[in-house]
Amino acid sequence: MTSSKVIPRTENRWRHDPGQPLLAIDEPPPYAAINPDGISPYLLLCEHASNRIPRALGDLGLPAAERLRHIAWDIGVSALSQYLSRTLDAPLFMTNYSRLVIDCNRPLDAPSAIPDISEATEIPGNIDLSAPEREQRIKTLFTPYANAIARRLDLLQSQGKRPIVIGIHSFTPVYLGRQRPWHAGILYGAAAGFGQTLIRELRGEGDLTIGDNEPYTIHPDEDYTVPVHADARGLDGALIEVRHDLIDTLAGVDAWGDRLTRCLLAASKEHG
Ligand SMILES: [Zn+2]
Repeated sequence: MTSSKVIPRTENRWRHDPGQPLLAIDEPPPYAAINPDGISPYLLLCEHASNRIPRALGDLGLPAAERLRHIAWDIGVSALSQYLSRTLDAPLFMTNYSRLVIDCNRPLDAPSAIPDISEATEIPGNIDLSAPEREQRIKTLFTPYANAIARRLDLLQSQGKRPIVIGIHSFTPVYLGRQRPWHAGILYGAAAGFGQTLIRELRGEGDLTIGDNEPYTIHPDEDYTVPVHADARGLDGALIEVRHDLIDTLAGVDAWGDRLTRCLLAASKEHG
């Protein structure tokens, strides 16, 4: 799985001249701002909403089956995030391109920001990127999204508000052959009090196995949203990770949207 064929750059249909724009004029912008004036204390963020790849990068050298898998996006989270944006009346910033192009929840110096490999799949279109190719992905996709969120938080904080930053994610039930036991997990960094409240609320639903900093932990070397947008500002914040087979239908999104709305409303009464 880890051997790579050396293909002359000129023959790689997924390579792009960084002197030309990465996004064509008829492609979606890097991110969507949904319900930007929502009055909820929650600011919802969704970095892994889409598996779209800019046309200029072709298929990144991946077969269709790989581009539909969880390595390209978080299955179900686009709908779940939009559901919560409506029920909570919360602003939502959501990326329009795959994390395989650039992962907007990774520090730029993390190897996984533009991954050569994800789970056990090599990403041919990301191997041996030139500095200009890398820079173009950052400038086109990462920076506009990160700046839009920072500006929104600056504005809210200048108004004396204390927004609560929530990232919405999903995880695969089986990772590298290992079954995971959780229905959902809450990941937090400095805001342990808020994280614990949300975990207590979800466990209070009575029928769920909820991970406490599982299936992942937050680390400033590997995460961007919570360390930068919440912890560095002294704001409450967490990532919600839902097992993706629970939200891959509209009925599942409805059920989890209702659950999470209940739990988030209860948590904001204590921390809002
Ligand atoms: Zn994710």
